[in-house]
Order: sequence, then structure tokens, then C-alpha cells
Amino acid sequence: MAKNPTSHDEEVRFSIDELPEPAFVTDPDHIIKATNQAASQLLGFPAEELVGWPLDKIFPKPPRGVSLLMSAGSGATKFQIRVKTKSNKLVLMSFIASPVVREGKPVALIYLGRDIRLRSLVEGEIKKARDYFRSIVQNSPNGICVTDMSRKVVMANKVAEQLTGYAIDELVGHPVTMFYPDEAKNPVDIMALRRGNGVSREVELKRKDGTTAPALVYYRIVEDERGENEMIIESYSDLTDRKRLDRLKNEFVFVAAHELRNPVTAIRLLLNMVFEDKRLTLDPVIRGYLLKLQEADERLLTLVDDLLEVSRSESGRLKITVSPQDITEHVKAIFSEMRPTALTKDVQLRHIPLTPMQPVMADPSKLKEIIANLVSNGVKYNVAGGSVTVEYAIRGGMLVTHIADTGIGISEKDQERLFQKFWRSEDMAVRAQSGTGLGLFIVKELVERMGGLLDVTSRVGRGTTFTFTLPLAHTKEKKRPEKRSR
Ligand code: ADP
Repeated sequence: MAKNPTSHDEEVRFSIDELPEPAFVTDPDHIIKATNQAASQLLGFPAEELVGWPLDKIFPKPPRGVSLLMSAGSGATKFQIRVKTKSNKLVLMSFIASPVVREGKPVALIYLGRDIRLRSLVEGEIKKARDYFRSIVQNSPNGICVTDMSRKVVMANKVAEQLTGYAIDELVGHPVTMFYPDEAKNPVDIMALRRGNGVSREVELKRKDGTTAPALVYYRIVEDERGENEMIIESYSDLTDRKRLDRLKNEFVFVAAHELRNPVTAIRLLLNMVFEDKRLTLDPVIRGYLLKLQEADERLLTLVDDLLEVSRSESGRLKITVSPQDITEHVKAIFSEMRPTALTKDVQLRHIPLTPMQPVMADPSKLKEIIANLVSNGVKYNVAGGSVTVEYAIRGGMLVTHIADTGIGISEKDQERLFQKFWRSEDMAVRAQSGTGLGLFIVKELVERMGGLLDVTSRVGRGTTFTFTLPLAHTKEKKRPEKRSR
């Protein structure tokens, strides 16, 4: 049974009125029969005025598909069109047109529209941002690879191509382990990246031709433009030149310090001869000058020795030969060397060995260097009436040595830089003492090279405790019989 056309029109008008987006109903001849508030707002004409208009008055170029749809009398068509407003502005809209079919015949067409200006604006901005990102990646002076979370390359730039020897096409789709195997052994810390921390590390790149190159990689995690998928951006800088320069610099420092050591020790020997020669009666003024000269020469010798040790460690020349050592013997020897200085500063030296003491595995001269540095700092940065105490503990197969002073202390901020080369506190009490800022750097290196760790706790105005660990000498021997008995 056919429906009353008037009630049907009412029904359609009612439902399109409710829509938040522009909508029209036309008859088979494309004459507007109904429209809604959103359409009237968009076009600038009252909705009643629009009724009776041919649709092409607002759709200046109706798409062919719409007329076809009408004649075919079936299916919905989606299309984009520029709609003409009262002020003759053309507004890009997207429409879905669908025929109303009754008894097999199309009786009306419903057009449901959407203002896509905002969407196309956003899409335009996204495209711009994407192009900008691509251009930054492509023009970066560093090699850049973007990978998915399975560490497969999804984008790479020219410099990455030059650094790895693989063409961009060969990189894309392949795991990063193809050109830096370090990632397989020691994958980048994704959790740290997710916490928003940039992570960097030195890796060895394995080029396509089999050669290797040192590189610094900086990682960052980002989300794609929809905020759905994570990606890792990694930027590589070639360290070949820097490493070469470092080597040259080390070589230079080593040679210069080595050459300086001879004249400096010659001056030391000559001065000692002058002071010890009973035939000479030194004028007190000259003696005073010579003592100052001796002091300066000692400082110079410390600096030269520190520089030699640093360049040895950085160029891999540092030789460490460990054997069982009674650490207390070294401490006693250093205490007796340092007692005169400690006395002048009114600093007491205290030694509390364990009973029985256990030997450690260490290089004797390096162990002496470690203790001398830490005890001398304890004395240098102390206060009159203070003390430096050396005591021990045994923990997990290691001998733990504490060197505690009651001196000026080190602020928390300064503690962060304590083990950096050439770093010295700005504190006046520190600057009043001579020093190179190399001692702790060397101590840390030596302790670690002998299998231990160096740590510090300190409170400003209260004092500082340096703690280092070294492996006990007997640990290995003790373990062996256990293994055999199994
Ligand atoms: P140097 O003593 O020659 O300056 P170090 O590398 O031994 O060099 O020490 C670096 C810096 O660390 C010192 O200049 C000083 O600021 C601080 N420091 C080291 N030991 C102590 C200590 N026991 N008490 C307070 N500050 C210290």
C-alpha cells in the first residue's frame, strides 16, 4: 500500500532537521524539497527560501554520478563538491547521496553533507609536518634511521646510506642489526626511551663491505601522527675522525709528558744533592728560594706523572699485573711518607686493619697509587685537628677499603663531576691547595681495571669517605676444591 506522500515528506524533513550537518531532500528533478538548519547556516539563506530551488543553484557542477544514481534508482554515492554560499564563496563539502525508492521508482534524493574544510586543513597540516619531518631527516648531517618496534628500518637518509654502505632500499625493511650487531648483543633500553629519556651510546657500525666504523647513536622514541604506533628514531654520527684526533692528542700528551719527565726528575735530583751536600753552606735566602723551587718541581712531577697515567689508560697502554698483596703494608708505607705533611696540617692518620688481614689481587704499584691519592686528598682537604682513617671490611669475596676524612666535604652537585678529568671544586679551600684534578679519574680507572669499584659518600663540613673494593686473593683457590669434590 502506497504511503501518503505528505506524511512521508514531513517524516523526512523532521529527521533531517535534527542533523548537525547540512542535508537536503530533492525530488527526482533535483528540486530542493526540504533542507535543515545546518544547511541554511552554511549557505546563508533561510531554509524555507531554499525549498523550491534547483539543486544546481548551490551545487554549481553536480557530479555525474548523482544524475546516474537518480536514473538508475539505486545505491548511495559519495562525492566531494564545492557548494556556493550567499556570499558567492565556494565551500568544499563531502556528501553522501542516496535515493528514496518507492515501488521500484526513485521518488526523492537525500543528500547528507559534511563540511570537510577543517579535515582538509588538518590533513594539509599533517602533510606539511610530514614533509617537514622528511626534509629534516633527509638533510640532517647525521645518519638517520627510523625503525618500528621490531627494530626494522622504515626510513633512512642519504648519510645513513653513506655510513653503512647499504642503499636506502637495502636498509628499509631490514633489522638494524644488519649494520650494527651491537644491538643484537645489547639492545637499546626501550623502557628508558618510553620514560622520555634520550639514550645514546657508542656502537661499531658494520658496513656492507665488511669494514667497521665507530659511531655515536642517539635514540628517541616517537609516536606516529595518529598516536597509535611507536617508532624509534636513531641518529648516527661518525666518530672515526674524533677517534683519530683523540689518538693523536693522547699520543702528543704522552710524548710531551714523557719528555718533560726527564728534566723535571733531573731538577729534583740536583736539588736533593744541593740540600744534602755537606760542603755547601747555603745562604738562608738562597735556601728559601731553593725550597720553593723544590716544591714547584714536585708539583710539576705530579702533573707529569698524572698526565702520563691518563694517556696510558686512554691509549690502552696501561699495564696491570696483579698478584696477592697485603694492602696494610702499602698503607703503612704511605702513612710514613705522608706523616710530615699531615703533622704540619695537624691531621691525624689512623689505620685499623682486620685481624687477620686477607690479601687482595692487585698490581702493587697501582695499589700504592690508589691509596696515596686517596690518603693525600684526605689530608689536603682536611681541617686542623681532623683525621684520615683507613679501615676495612670483607663482603662477597671482595676487600672493602674505606678512607674516611673529617675534612671540608663535597657537595652533592660536585659529587656528580668528581671523577671527571681535570675537575676541581671551585671551593676556596680546594683552590688553596695545589692539584691537577686528575687523581680521582686515575684512581677510578685503576680500581675498575683491577676488578673493583670506587664510591664516595660525603657531607659538606663533615667529611668524605672514599670506598673501593678489590677481589680477595684466596677466593679462587678456595672455590677450586669445592668444584673437584662434585
Ligand atoms: P686534585 O686533588 O689534584 O685536585 P683529584 O682528582 O684528586 O684532584 O680530586 C678532584 C677534586 O675532588 C679536588 O680538587 C677536590 O675538589 C675534590 N676532592 C677530592 N678528594 C676530596 C676530599 N677527600 N675531600 C674534599 N674534596 C675532595
